[in-house]
Amino acid sequence: MPPPGKKKQGKVCRDCHRVVDGENCAVCGTTNLSDDWAGYLVIIDPEHSEVAKKMNIRLQGRYALKVR
Ligand SMILES: [Zn+2]
Repeated sequence: MPPPGKKKQGKVCRDCHRVVDGENCAVCGTTNLSDDWAGYLVIIDPEHSEVAKKMNIRLQGRYALKVR
């Protein structure tokens, strides 16, 4: 059980908004990451998702809506 009030949510790529597990983005290869982001988005079928099209997401996975 994680401690209450403290959410570990990882980092997000500033370029493609993908939630990243390691130190660089699997899509862009960039290390331009942010841990200040909001909104959680799971893309399962990018080719048929309007949201994915708007955000130029071509790969399924987890993304953030807003990255600061
Ligand atoms: Zn990226």
